[in-house]
Formats: sequence, structure tokens, C-alpha cells
Amino acid sequence: MSIPAVRIRYDCLKCPGYCCSYPRIEVKDADLLRLARHFGLDVEVAERRFTRRYRDEDNDERILRHRKDHIYGSICRFFDTEARRCTVYVARPAVCRQYPNGAKCGYYEFIRFERRHQDDPDFIPSA
Ligand code: SF4
Ligand code: SF4
Repeated sequence: MSIPAVRIRYDCLKCPGYCCSYPRIEVKDADLLRLARHFGLDVEVAERRFTRRYRDEDNDERILRHRKDHIYGSICRFFDTEARRCTVYVARPAVCRQYPNGAKCGYYEFIRFERRHQDDPDFIPSA
């Protein structure tokens, strides 16, 4: 018996990459190793270059560094801010692979609604 395919209801090619602007994008050990291999770097070098530590009362995480972005203010350092796409797609962390964890993306619903409402296919609402 075949499992019915889930119909994906978002299109990242029509989105300026909001999810890549999340301030905390976690990099687990396996993610770091994958990124280090991708760039042919030592793990320690990759860790310093690509990540930083985030700590608060409940969390202690290794996260991706950011760069400036003209749309969201700040975005993942691996994001191409002109082409609006990931430059390390094959080596991206697991959390990037899993997102948005289902057939729908809340931000895509939002942007689609606003574009229809404003009658402007390129409209980018501030999130
Ligand atoms: S916010 Fe949603 S639609 Fe936009 S790039 Fe991320 S997953 Fe794709
Ligand atoms: S690694 Fe790629 S998919 Fe993940 S946040 Fe950065 S640009 Fe986005």
C-alpha cells in the first residue's frame, strides 16, 4: 500500500526567506561536522567562524551567526541577501531541513494573504 503524498502548501521561491531571519537557529554537533566538511575546515574553525553561543536562564545553544539584511534587519550568515536563498543548502543544519514541520508555513500564509489583500504580488509585510 502506498502512502499518499502530502501536498506542500508553501512556496519558498515566493518568499524572501523569513525563517532564515530567526535569531536562534541551532547547530548541533552533527550539523557543525557537516558544515565543516562542506567547507573543508576543522570543526573548531567552523565553529568559531559560523556559530556563536546563545545563553539565557533556560538555554545554552550553539547558533548560526547572522549578517545584516535589508528586509529583516538581520539574517543567517549563509543567506544570500540578493538572491534570497541559502548558500549551503546541501549542508544546512537539521532544524532548517525540518522547518516548517508540516505542509503549511504560517509566514507564507501571512504573506500570501497580504499580497492578495494589497493586490501586490511582491509585497513584503513586516513580520
Ligand atoms: S518562511 Fe516559510 S515560505 Fe518562507 S522560506 Fe521559510 S519555509 Fe519557505
Ligand atoms: S543555513 Fe541556510 S536554510 Fe538554514 S538558516 Fe541559514 S540560510 Fe537559512
